[in-house]
Amino acid sequence: MNEKKRDPTDWVRPEIHALSAYQVPDARGLIKLDAMENPFTWPQELRQAWLERLHDTDVNRYPDPRAPALKQRLRESMSVPAAAQVILGNGSDELIQMIAMTLARPERVLLSVEPGFVMYRMIAVFTGMRYQPVALTAEDFSLDTPALLEAIARHRPAVVFLAYPNNPTGNLFDDADLVRVIRAAPGLVVIDEAYAPFTDASFMHRVGEFDNLLVMRTLSKMGLAGLRLGLLTGPPAWLAEIEKTRLPYNINTLTQLSAEFALNHPDVFHAQTRAIREERESLFERLSGISGLTAFPSAANFILLRLAEGRATSTHDALKTGGVLVKNLHGAHPLLRDCLRVTVGTPDENRAFLEALTSALA
Ligand code: PMP
Repeated sequence: MNEKKRDPTDWVRPEIHALSAYQVPDARGLIKLDAMENPFTWPQELRQAWLERLHDTDVNRYPDPRAPALKQRLRESMSVPAAAQVILGNGSDELIQMIAMTLARPERVLLSVEPGFVMYRMIAVFTGMRYQPVALTAEDFSLDTPALLEAIARHRPAVVFLAYPNNPTGNLFDDADLVRVIRAAPGLVVIDEAYAPFTDASFMHRVGEFDNLLVMRTLSKMGLAGLRLGLLTGPPAWLAEIEKTRLPYNINTLTQLSAEFALNHPDVFHAQTRAIREERESLFERLSGISGLTAFPSAANFILLRLAEGRATSTHDALKTGGVLVKNLHGAHPLLRDCLRVTVGTPDENRAFLEALTSALA
């Protein structure tokens, strides 16, 4: 009768209890420049052709767990070397998790740089790995290569994650430094090329040159964030092990079909990413002309801004009142003091952002 109420904290792992869930703010009614999405939707004819393809698709069966046609289209469109193996993930977030699950043991280290992509740390915690950050340089967020090599020698990480270009700073790391890291690392090095559509730099053609290099991509930033599809490439010996942690039906039927359809219309997406790259340059130029802030050069589809001391949160809030949602990074890391991150939007959205920013700073 008088049964004791079960307390989740008696059972939940303390490190999970101590986490805060990943926060996604409500963007209803706002110009959404907080999440590095492609702001452009599909032309009407493309939508119609897509719906016709969907019309003939059945969902009573499980999806094809091997997705050979989609994999082949992805290989072609991303120039994956023929000898490399490919694994698909439900977004690259899931691939990061699969890599960590494959390697995790309590004493094993997942190493990355900070400020960096927050999921590396979170997934290290989920999988019970030890997370080891190394700070980027304060001047321009480049790699502190001596410190990084020293940390690799000391902690012997099972895996090093490096986003190239980096989120949230937007810069590319020096490729000779990356090669030194790949050579020095005792385990895997994952170059996370989530922002590949916005730069010509890539390590994809070097997959196979090193026995420990994996390259990760996603379709999210090129305009398919809602589909959730990421791709991991690398030497077959590693990928065969990671593949064992993949849930059999992780890429659903609608995603497989829609991604393949989209990749068969590359011109639409190339035109969109080209427009975003051009907008990034003009947005950067206009931001650089505003006194009271520093804009950091970016090879991605977002720009990191530093405001005057103590002004980031008030500016973020004023932008929101003015109808524009950006990401407030103040407090996320000491090197992101007074920083906001703005995603490159459409020309109209960028104009609205600049107007709201100018009046917020006035
Ligand atoms: N890597 C980096 C560096 C990112 O910034 C993001 C998204 N913010 C991801 C991976 C995850 O992308 P997705 O899960 O949408 O493929």
